[in-house]
Amino acid sequence: MRPPVGNMFSSTWIVTPLFVTDLSTARTFAVKARDAGADAIELRCDRTEATVIEAVLRDPEIRRLKTILTIRPAWEGGGFTGSEAQRLELLRLACRYQPDLIDVEWKAWQNSAGFADVLAPCLMMPETWRASAATQRRAPGLIISNHDFVQRPADLHQRVAAMAAIPEATVLKVAFAAADINDAVAALTLYNQRSDFNDLPLVAIAMGEAGQISRLLAAKFGAAFTFAQLDAEAHSAPGQPPILTLMQRFRFKEQRADWRVFGLVGSPVSHSVSPMIHNAGFAQTGYAGVYVPLLTAPGYDNFIRAINGLRRLPGMNLGGVSVTIPHKSSALAYASEESGTIDPVARHIGAVNTLFFPPGGGIRAMNSDAAGAVAALTSGMGIKAEMLRDSDVAILGAGGAARAIVAALCELGARIAIYNRTPARAVELAQQFATGPGRIQARDIHDFSSSHHKIVINCTAAGMTPHVNDLPFPSDAKLYTDQIVFDTVYNPRRTRLLQMAQHSGATCVEGLEMLLSQAAAQFEGFTGQPVPSEAMRAAALDALGR
Ligand code: NAP
Repeated sequence: MRPPVGNMFSSTWIVTPLFVTDLSTARTFAVKARDAGADAIELRCDRTEATVIEAVLRDPEIRRLKTILTIRPAWEGGGFTGSEAQRLELLRLACRYQPDLIDVEWKAWQNSAGFADVLAPCLMMPETWRASAATQRRAPGLIISNHDFVQRPADLHQRVAAMAAIPEATVLKVAFAAADINDAVAALTLYNQRSDFNDLPLVAIAMGEAGQISRLLAAKFGAAFTFAQLDAEAHSAPGQPPILTLMQRFRFKEQRADWRVFGLVGSPVSHSVSPMIHNAGFAQTGYAGVYVPLLTAPGYDNFIRAINGLRRLPGMNLGGVSVTIPHKSSALAYASEESGTIDPVARHIGAVNTLFFPPGGGIRAMNSDAAGAVAALTSGMGIKAEMLRDSDVAILGAGGAARAIVAALCELGARIAIYNRTPARAVELAQQFATGPGRIQARDIHDFSSSHHKIVINCTAAGMTPHVNDLPFPSDAKLYTDQIVFDTVYNPRRTRLLQMAQHSGATCVEGLEMLLSQAAAQFEGFTGQPVPSEAMRAAALDALGR
């Protein structure tokens, strides 16, 4: 077997791609990329003149970053539409100006006439590439790449092994469209199989939102590099995070193999501020862990497949997950099936918003929504929870959040009226938690207009971004100065409902308070450390606006 390339990639590079048009734009971009924290620039020269390729590769400012040169043909998802002979000539020319690496498709290396024969003498062999690249520039190393924009290749492992068999290969790169999170798990699994691939540096990317952890956790799994956008507006590949997000939110440069991973399982998850909140807490306490979005399609089977795939991935070290719509009842069923320890509150509510996977094995399930809501409400009112006994509360909505809050308020002895757009769900919820005559009742949503409850809690999604103009009750309803209005929606912070409440002189309680409170309970369970509340609050305010 060939000797490994060495530790040129002792830390995972952040590579930012640029579609090269002219020297000046490329130089400006390179300066910004370096300032942002990129280690390397991928010069995408799919449509670039030969003279510009030369100028860019000779530019000292650009060469302060490591360089990868790519001329991607249309048949592999790129923009080069000339002949393979023309492309080969451009690549040969580019090699003269010594980019650190050139990227050539596995299929071209195998099938395009002359590619292997003409390019091999222009390249540095893998075993010498590292030492030379570290000291002085000479011939480039070779990335052998393969892309599938439709699906994960059925023969993924064999394919990468075949790529590794190319003697000139310095780095192997495989990228494919992810249908679900298990495709990201398949990509990360390849890092555990590097001995099958001659121990060559590897980049395995599951593209798209479902595959995002293959990028976010690339440093933890020891990838050669990962791609990141210079700014949030640039879109060169789906799921590619901005450099700053990767560095600051996911602490990419600090990630180590033994870090624990946490995440948010749900659909959708991209709107959530939980990654900002928890990662800020981890950073503040120096905790060796990272919290990532884990997009998981609806359905119990999808939930189980995702959780089991993540838990069983060697090296993943999954410490726990927050669970959101639509998986909270699936999480309860999963914890029961796995004989986990289920917090009585979660069992009573019938939903779980957090699963813990302790290092020693087993599962613990809890629901911190209920306690989080009560904490937000009582702190907003300046009272103790016991003082909610006999208080008159209107609950708007009858979904998961409503169920958690109704369960908690019933326990505290409040009198509850449930209003919901779909009346049958309000009736069902009222029946489930009925504690005694008159304590809890389902009311028609139109009755809300003539009601006057002491406390009004919105547990519907009405008013949440992007539907910011929606109200959870009929337009002729009024709010009053002596009321407490609590909106569990936190994005935006000041919902239309809270604006209306403020205008009426009512006391307002923001959903952000509930979010922070339930996240604090999760953080404590995840890390066993005291909660850095101020850092977590600051991260939420940064994300949602102060
Ligand atoms: P869910 O189980 O899907 O229930 C959604 C509820 O909202 C249902 O009662 C639904 O009524 C109602 N609804 C949806 N759109 C509506 C509209 N345009 N007008 C009136 N009613 C509408 O969701 P969930 O888990 O209960 O979450 C609901 C909301 O709670 C979320 O949007 C989230 O913002 C908030 N929440 C906040 C926190 C926090 O920490 N702050 C935690 C959890 C949830 P139907 O029954 O008629 O469909």
